[in-house]
Amino acid sequence: MTSPRFQGPADLHLHSQNSDGTEPPAAVMDAAFRHGIRTAALTDHDTTSGWAEASRAASALGMTFVPGMEMSAKHGGRSAHVLAYLIDPGEAALGSMIARVRDSREQRVSTMVERIGRDYDLTWQDVAAETTDGATVGRPHIADALVTRGIVADRTDAFAGILSPRSDYYVSLFAPDPVTAVRLVTGAGGVPIIAHPAGRGGVLPAALLDELIGAGLAGFELGHRENREPGVALLRRLVDRHDLIVTGSSDYHGAGKPNLPGENTTSDEMVQRIVDRATGSAPVYA
Ligand code: AMP
Ligand code: FE
Ligand code: FE
Ligand code: ZN
Repeated sequence: MTSPRFQGPADLHLHSQNSDGTEPPAAVMDAAFRHGIRTAALTDHDTTSGWAEASRAASALGMTFVPGMEMSAKHGGRSAHVLAYLIDPGEAALGSMIARVRDSREQRVSTMVERIGRDYDLTWQDVAAETTDGATVGRPHIADALVTRGIVADRTDAFAGILSPRSDYYVSLFAPDPVTAVRLVTGAGGVPIIAHPAGRGGVLPAALLDELIGAGLAGFELGHRENREPGVALLRRLVDRHDLIVTGSSDYHGAGKPNLPGENTTSDEMVQRIVDRATGSAPVYA
């Protein structure tokens, strides 16, 4: 095993414009560095396409790069995000699931835009203009087009109204259930960690959390601005009982969200536990 060479503050949840962040992967690493981060993961939604660029940029800055992805999952109607660290990006089963989710995302965005376009001056071209070629598309890209068109003030405004799941324009997305997602991530040699696990919708049901741990879930992102009590305390008890990994991260999206790199961080010990558990890929040390 390689000896650890982590140097201080780690932020393991950052998005680039390869999904719904607003900056290229290299600029995301630069932003992390400027905020004092020295170990950074790129975790775009349902894609690993930014790894090479982010890795080069991180190395040039003297940072450690941890390859990651934030995988979409769904329990009942509710979305759950599984951070997938150090997966093998070429593993077939995970790759075909991601391809399926990405196809569904494109159809879903196109249907939503068609519905919105009946009431507002918005077309697919407007959304395409906000989206980098090959990026994982999502509601944030529709939000940006709505902002450009002057229909809403910002992404938050768009998500509270036109893009909300309660809106008539909303179309749901195909995504695997969280247990399947966890199995696919471990099957690809990766380390699955539930993102913002005590966020807006509260924690997942206790029986499902037990099932996820049984399926190989490694831990929870307890340091995240969207987490709330009593969910965090409940999850901390699970962490203690099962000796799980705990991370803290920013979920930076560039200008797309107020979250700033380093607003939550992960300890060196926890980064090392993630690395020790992974077989799919390795961190890139500076
Ligand atoms: P989607 O995956 O297309 O359903 O869109 C969900 C994504 O939108 C999440 O990954 C968040 O990053 C982003 N998002 C959700 N709520 C907001 C919000 N209020 N403001 C900005 N971005 C948001
Ligand atoms: Fe996002
Ligand atoms: Fe998320
Ligand atoms: Zn995220």
